[in-house]
Amino acid sequence: MRVHSIERASGRDGIEWSARISVADQERTVRFGGPPELVSNADATPFLAAALLPAMAWGHDLHVDGAVSGAVVAKVPMIARLFASMDPTLRVPEVTVAEEAEEPWPAGDGGVACMFSRGVDSSYSAAVPRVDPGPLDALVYCRTLEPNHDEATAAAELEATRRAAEVVGLPLHAVWTDLREFTDPMFGWSAMHGSGLAALALLVRQRFDHVVLPSAYDLESLAPAGSHPAIDPLWSSPSTRIHHDHLDRGRHAKVAWLAAERPDLLPHLKVCYQHSTQTNCGQCHKCALTMSSLRAEGALGLATLFPAELDLEVVRRQRVVGPGSRGLWVPIARRAREVGDDELADALEDMLRLSAVPTLRELLSSRSKVAEQAFRTLAGPPRFEPYDPERATTFERFDRAYTDARLSLIRHGEVRPLGTPPPPGLRASTVVASLAASIRHRRRRR
Ligand SMILES: [Zn+2]
Repeated sequence: MRVHSIERASGRDGIEWSARISVADQERTVRFGGPPELVSNADATPFLAAALLPAMAWGHDLHVDGAVSGAVVAKVPMIARLFASMDPTLRVPEVTVAEEAEEPWPAGDGGVACMFSRGVDSSYSAAVPRVDPGPLDALVYCRTLEPNHDEATAAAELEATRRAAEVVGLPLHAVWTDLREFTDPMFGWSAMHGSGLAALALLVRQRFDHVVLPSAYDLESLAPAGSHPAIDPLWSSPSTRIHHDHLDRGRHAKVAWLAAERPDLLPHLKVCYQHSTQTNCGQCHKCALTMSSLRAEGALGLATLFPAELDLEVVRRQRVVGPGSRGLWVPIARRAREVGDDELADALEDMLRLSAVPTLRELLSSRSKVAEQAFRTLAGPPRFEPYDPERATTFERFDRAYTDARLSLIRHGEVRPLGTPPPPGLRASTVVASLAASIRHRRRRR
């Protein structure tokens, strides 16, 4: 994979950096842009962060035909090994650059910025009193990260984010990139998220000494993911430290903190990326998750971009897979029970149980074509992917590789080639194999 033809152009909105990325017989342009005071001195380093995971997925080496921070280049092999340890189908590439550049600007007076999108994690990161790496001086919003937003929605969302930043009390800087058009066909954003935000942080490093990337998990629920506390900080350059925000509060605890300490931010919460709208749909996984948290904290009425009521059938309909995404729901179920919202707690527990076992329909349909046809006639098309709770299609590749390896070990005591699916639940062969191992062991002791 080659990143080349790196160009800088001035436009109406600011300065845009573009590069051609060639891989196999394909070639496309990727762009990053922002106001001149943030990005005028940028170089090819953001393109390195943007292209590393795609090169690993293609199994190609990577050459960046431009000036890249020498300090970042030196850490790329370590970053690549970390990604490959979470997903062994990714190949650690040789990475070369045309020029290893010194940072062209001094560090020390730029202050602290935080990436901001009005979701739960970034609203919390923007508002919580902060001693490390210090109080925030600015928020950075990428106005083109949602692929479902048309131009009118993107413009309205930028204005809505400016109003939210005013409530936080910090200046907002808007940047842009079309990176997702390049990476979405290869990865979900959950896999690209850390490198994508690191690329944006590297884009604006002439302006800030520190850039905070909001975290998605607390320590208890931490799962392999594209934005990770072990990886994100490695993208730091000598002039700008990149921080994965602290893991002391998870998603539900952040909602609880916002409800208690900053209820004025709740009317600005926007978590939904399903449609080109300025409101939250109330039907998708992220909406159901956030509305459940808000309801458990008695604050749903304040979050006015959501529907006024949580439809508990929407909660029951979720299929939550992978240790990372299930972990996000657990504190909400505990809290709902604690505050006596048994209706919500029951729905959450129903959903988690349903996520752990096949439905009757799935059990019968997988065994008989006649049963499948009967269900289809009586109840319409299935609402869920076929049963395989730990491996359904909706969770991201890093979480999946981790789950596969551990399920094989936990269920069967088997060490399988990395990246292969685990066999289903308890099998007769597992029982036979463990009995045989026990007999061999006893024979040897005699
Ligand atoms: Zn939604």
